[in-house]
Amino acid sequence: MVDELIEQIRLATKAITDFGIHLFDPTIRLGVTGLSHAGKTVFISALIHGLVRGGRFPIFEALAGGRIARAYLAPQPDDAVSRFDYENHIAAMVNKRDWPSSTRQISELRVVIEFQSLSGHQRKLTLDVVDYPGEWLLDLPLLTKTYETWASETLRLSRERPRSDLAKSWHLHLAKLDPLAPGDEQQALTAARLFTEYLRACRDQNYALSLLPPGRFLMPGDLANTPALTFAPLDLPTEVPPPAGSLWAMMRRRYESYRAVVVRPFFRDHFARLDRQIVLVDTLAAINAGPEALGDLEHALNEVLTAFEVGRRTLFSALLRPRIDRILLAATKADHLHHTSHDRLENILRRLAQRAISKAEVAGAQVDVVALSAVRATREATARRGRQQLPCVVGVPLPGEAVVGEIFDGVTEVAIFPGDLPDDPNDLLLGDINAFRGLATTSLQNVDFRFLRVRPPALELTENGVPALPHIRLDRALQFLIGDKFV
Ligand code: GDP
Repeated sequence: MVDELIEQIRLATKAITDFGIHLFDPTIRLGVTGLSHAGKTVFISALIHGLVRGGRFPIFEALAGGRIARAYLAPQPDDAVSRFDYENHIAAMVNKRDWPSSTRQISELRVVIEFQSLSGHQRKLTLDVVDYPGEWLLDLPLLTKTYETWASETLRLSRERPRSDLAKSWHLHLAKLDPLAPGDEQQALTAARLFTEYLRACRDQNYALSLLPPGRFLMPGDLANTPALTFAPLDLPTEVPPPAGSLWAMMRRRYESYRAVVVRPFFRDHFARLDRQIVLVDTLAAINAGPEALGDLEHALNEVLTAFEVGRRTLFSALLRPRIDRILLAATKADHLHHTSHDRLENILRRLAQRAISKAEVAGAQVDVVALSAVRATREATARRGRQQLPCVVGVPLPGEAVVGEIFDGVTEVAIFPGDLPDDPNDLLLGDINAFRGLATTSLQNVDFRFLRVRPPALELTENGVPALPHIRLDRALQFLIGDKFV
């Protein structure tokens, strides 16, 4: 209680300070999140490059209308948060045509945008972009769950296929544990290790399962090997309270520490201060992994958007509740598909998030969905196969990428026929994976394209002669996220 009160006072002071700054120099904090490899690093780098250098953004009205005088990087406000490594990420993509290294922790970058308001006044908008792992966001619902609820939910999920196959070693160990017996450090260590291995196997590309709290088990950062990360679910007897000194009591206490040390500070110091949020989703990876992964993603999206609502309702008073009023869900890497499938990709994500979107809207946030490619690494072409004309995407696979006996050299272009996504998203959810299957062709040899990663593209000149990174619908995302602030 006292802790909560102190948190509230701290947050209130912060909110008031932020508000003061807002009056003279409006600031927006934009959260960028998504699970590991969803495309956060590439998205932020491309977004800032486009703003600072002047990308081709016809749908971002303020820029397209010539009202943005200039945008530049400025020192970030939070001294204890890493700076987003923008320069190196851009150098990797532009100079080496290689992808940047991915997000592993929270980082931040500030961009100041000078623009002319609609009434002709010179204004300044400060945009703080905050990059954080989606795994941490999926932890927020833990704030409302006891150890017992979390353990029983996690166990239930792990007993469903395909998770049950991945959980075998952990389940074998779990069966040997007596929650009422005295707490034993070695047992806790083994349980936590096997549980973490299970979570990691679920994240594997072939499964691409999304719902894996506690997030720090997969992204421990500086908390690796601490007791706060050394717990696991137990098969618990109902009704009985945990005896003092038992394994159950030990696990429960560590779960409470995890919430106190990891989840609450993240909520208080970062999440509660965001104004806008984009959630990046590698929808194609889930489609490729099959219907279970899609079902799981649907569940995870629901949890993610519940996190926004949870924050509002239960944790803090009205003054302090999270103020996120716009949430964009984005299916990333759309350049793997021909443009005829972009709207379908968007519809699939919308369908997966349907339930969650209505909840977030009820909680007062505006939600939109877009299929985008922050950096478009392919171009389109038509390949001929016998009499058939196939709409393809053409790209250069990364050196070392291999499919069916062929290893790519990082120079050769490949035409990929990605196949069409189904018109009706339910075809995929009901398990018709054949609804979407494509192939790649080099010397017209058929190969499965599905995990082929291509190199970033060369810069392209815009109409104004500015070298820019090509993209798909990045400007639409920008317009939704901050377009209304340029009035
Ligand atoms: P993060 O872990 O969410 O920060 O993910 P990254 O931004 O590092 O992206 C992970 C990988 O996805 C990259 O290394 C690229 O291979 C791929 N990727 C991300 N964005 C795009 C995109 O717009 N187009 C293509 N073709 N690949 C992308």
